[in-house]
Amino acid sequence: MQKRKISIIDDGRDGAEEIRIALAARFTEEDFETLDDSVEDAELVVVIGGDGTFLRTLARFDFPDVPFVGINTGHLGFFQELDAADADQFVFRYMQGDFSEQRYRTVEAEIEFGDESAKIRGLNEIVVRGEGTSLSHLDIYIGDRLIEKFSGDGVVVSTPAGSTAYNYSLGGSIVDPSLDLLQLTPMAPVNSTAYRSFTSGIVLPPGLPIEVYPDAESRAGVFVSVDGVETHAPNLRRVGIRLSGRTVTLLRFKNYEFWNTVKKKLLMP
Ligand code: NAP
Repeated sequence: MQKRKISIIDDGRDGAEEIRIALAARFTEEDFETLDDSVEDAELVVVIGGDGTFLRTLARFDFPDVPFVGINTGHLGFFQELDAADADQFVFRYMQGDFSEQRYRTVEAEIEFGDESAKIRGLNEIVVRGEGTSLSHLDIYIGDRLIEKFSGDGVVVSTPAGSTAYNYSLGGSIVDPSLDLLQLTPMAPVNSTAYRSFTSGIVLPPGLPIEVYPDAESRAGVFVSVDGVETHAPNLRRVGIRLSGRTVTLLRFKNYEFWNTVKKKLLMP
C-alpha cells in the first residue's frame, strides 16, 4: 500500500531547516513519506518560513489543490498558523484531525504585451505601476465601462487575503476573509486641474472584471507584478483582472480567529 505523503518546504533561514528535519522525523514515525522538493501526491504542504516563503511556494508549484499549513520562523507570518515552538505538537494535532480549513480565493490576470499574452495568478494582489517615480496614465474599466483615466504611481488590485499586505500600506481596507471581493487601491493618485483620479479604493463583487490599459505614452514604462514578483511584460497594452474560482486552502487550528491575527500582527508590538 502507498504511504501517505507530506511535503515539508523550508526557506533555509532562521532554523527553518532544523524544524523541517525534526518534523520529517516525526511524520516518518507516523509512517508517512516526506518530500522536501515536490508536492506531488502530498495530502498536506508544510511551509516553514514567513509569508514571502509561503507565497513563493504557492507560485513555484502553481497553486496546487492541496492544503497548506505555515510554521513561522522570525517573520511577520500573517498566513503562518504556527510558531516554531508549536511544531512538535502540530503532528499530534494533525493526526487527531484537530483543525479546520480556510479557503482564500486567488486573483488572476490576463496580460497583453507586444504581440504576446500571458496569464498570471496571485494570492495577495496584482500591481500595475510605472517604473521608479514616473507618472503613469492608466485607463481603468470596470466591466466594460471606462471609470477613470487614472494618473499616479499605479494601482493595486488585492484579494481579501492580500488586504493586510501592500493594500493596507496604501490606506486600503482590511477585508474579512469570508467576503468575496476585489479591492482596487490607487497608489499616489494625482488630483489637479490637469488630472483627476479617485483618491479612495473601489470595492467590487466577484463577477466584475477590472481592465487596465496604459495609455500609449506610459506603455513602455508600466509593469505588472504579482505577489511581489515582477512579470516580464514589455510594452504592456492591457491587464484584465478578476477574482478567480481557484482557491488556496490553509489549515487552521481551533483557536484561530482572523481579527485576533490582525490585531496581533498589525497593531500590537
Ligand atoms: P516580502 O519582503 O516577502 O513581504 C513584505 C512584507 O509583507 C513581509 O513582512 C511579509 O511577511 C508581509 N506580507 C506578505 N503577505 C502578507 C499578507 N497577506 N498580510 C500581511 N502581511 C503580508 O516582499 P515581496 O516578496 O516583495 O512581496 C510579498 C508581498 O509583500 C506582496 O504580495 C505585497 O503585498 C507585500 N509588499 C508590501 C509592500 C508595502 O507594504 N509597502 C511593498 C512590497 C510588497 P513575512 O515577513 O512573514 O514574509
